[in-house]
Formats: sequence, C-alpha cells, structure tokens
Amino acid sequence: MRGEARTLEAATNSDGWQVCAANGLIAGREAVVALGPWAGDAMAALGRPVPMGVKRGYHMHYKTRGNAVLNRPVIDSEIGYALAPMTQGIRLMTGAEFALRDSAPTPVQLDRVEPAAQGLFPLAERAKAEPWLGRRPCMPDMLPVIGPVAGLKGLWVDFGHHHLGFTLGPVTGRLLAEMMIGETPFTDPMPYRIERFLRGGRGSGYRSVGMEKKNFSLIKSALICFFTWAATTTQIIRACAHREILLQCKTQSLSAMADIEQAALVRFDLMSKRPSNLPRIG
Ligand SMILES: Cc1cc2nc3c(=O)[nH]c(=O)nc-3n(C[C@H](O)[C@H](O)[C@H](O)COP(=O)(O)OP(=O)(O)OC[C@H]3O[C@@H](n4cnc5c(N)ncnc54)[C@H](O)[C@@H]3O)c2cc1C
Repeated sequence: MRGEARTLEAATNSDGWQVCAANGLIAGREAVVALGPWAGDAMAALGRPVPMGVKRGYHMHYKTRGNAVLNRPVIDSEIGYALAPMTQGIRLMTGAEFALRDSAPTPVQLDRVEPAAQGLFPLAERAKAEPWLGRRPCMPDMLPVIGPVAGLKGLWVDFGHHHLGFTLGPVTGRLLAEMMIGETPFTDPMPYRIERFLRGGRGSGYRSVGMEKKNFSLIKSALICFFTWAATTTQIIRACAHREILLQCKTQSLSAMADIEQAALVRFDLMSKRPSNLPRIG
C-alpha cells in the first residue's frame, strides 16, 4: 500500500492524520514523516518548512575481465572512489556531489574516477546504460531530525540522516518509538528536535545560529592570527635583510623572538632556494 505523502493532512473525520492512496484515504491516530530527501516537501505542505539540502552520489556496476574476483570493498581515498563486490557486479561509487535534489544527473565524477578504478582492478564494460543516482538528506548541522512536531498533535518526524541513514536508521527508529509510546528515551532527544529549524518555534535557531557565531569567531581568530603572523614574519624578514635584527629583539621577548626568527629565517631561506618544480599545496 503506497500513499502520496505530500497529501498528508489532519484527518477530517477524527483526530489524527490522513494521506491519499490509490485505494482511497489512509488514516491513523499518529503519523511519522520519514521521507529522507523528500521529507522537506511534506513538511513545507504542513507549514513547517525545514532547511534541508542533499549531497548526491552515483554508482555503476561493472563486469570483470578474465576471472578476476574482488572479495572485499576497497576505498581509494587519494583519488576518491570505492569499489565493492555486489550481486549485480563490481560497484564503483563516487564521492558527494553538491547539486539540487531534482536537477538532471551530472555523473562527471564517475567518468573521472573510472580510468583510475580500471587501473586498480580489471573492470570490464558497464553493466547498465545509466548510473544510479542517490540523494543524502542533510540538515545544516548534520544531525537528524527526530521527535514530535510542536503544534501538530500526533505528527512525528524522523529524517535528515545524511551519509549515515543505514547506520543510524535503527537507533533513531528506536529513539522515536520510545518517545511515541512514552518510554524514557535511551538518549536525550533535545538536540534532534525539529524546532531548532522552525522560525518562531521554541529554541528557534538552536545550534545553527550558535554554530554560525562559533564559526564566525573561529574564522575571526584565525584571520587575526594569520595577519599577526604575516606582519611579524614580514617585519623579521625585512629586519634580517637590513641587518636590523637586534633592534627588533629589544621590543619582543628574546625566546619568542628566537622561535619566530628561526621560522622566518627558514622560510626566507626556503623562499630563495625553492626549486621551481616544487608542487604548491592549497
Ligand atoms: C550514494 C550514497 C551512499 C550512501 N552510503 C551510505 C553508507 O555507506 N552508510 C549509511 O549508513 N548510509 C549511507 N547513505 C545514506 C542513506 O542512504 C540515507 O541516509 C538513508 O537512505 C535515509 O533513509 P530514509 O529512510 O530517511 O530515506 P530513504 O531511504 O530515502 O527513503 C525515503 C522513502 O520515501 C519515499 N517517498 C518519497 N517521496 C514520497 C511521497 N511523496 N510519497 C510517498 N513516499 C515517498 C521514497 O520512495 C523512499 O522510499 C548513502 C546515501 C547515498 C545517496
């Protein structure tokens, strides 16, 4: 039995919720929105829009050349792909793609990693014409959304499992079940409540706003450190070049100066001797 979740609404003839299905209305006292990357559609229709994004990923199956066998999953973290033996063949998986949920597939990552994977393992031709495309449902704080929805009695949510839905699904299902039947939850459900994203809701902005502030002050501190370091280093390099190092030493602690000076001199030395073919990082 499959209903159309976007039709979910408060039941008209009783307490509870109802959805349209092929055979008519399905009604229940309680409803759980557990629609993965599509949860945002149902929540928006219920007047509770949530800021969900998706990270997309592709995979393709291959036959093998000769009698080659792959007995275990292999990850090439340097190039960014994984191979795993599946019943459909050898599965080649890509990294994450930032794109809109419903935009057309752009499997460029697959095309790029395929030659590297073929170099590592004797993959033969592709088993299908089109790669599989999946969407990971991600919230801004990368935590799932679990629990009741304030103001909508009998409505529960369990979505936003990002990269780890297979791993987290059973445990978030348990947490939700314990809340629904009134048992003491095995862990504090507060960090997962939907109200952290709802405008005007209790605890509105919880975590995401905090995180922004935290990130902003971290970035600010990092920038201050960088500019202080850059200014100090520049001064020391200049001083070294003009043989004024002793003058600088008077204004700063000798030990700290020695460290900075050493670092600056090493850097100065490296800069002058740097071979032109040295790879640049960053
Ligand atoms: C490429 C890729 C690799 C991943 N690898 C891992 C991994 O290694 N380990 C791991 O733990 N997790 C992994 N994940 C994440 C995992 O797949 C998801 O987190 C998980 O599937 C989310 O489960 P869910 O039940 O919330 O949503 P889904 O599994 O997406 O289920 C949502 C369901 O809602 C249905 N639906 C949608 N719209 C409607 C509608 N209007 N009406 C009715 N039904 C509807 C859909 O048909 C679907 O059945 C990966 C995901 C991707 C994309």
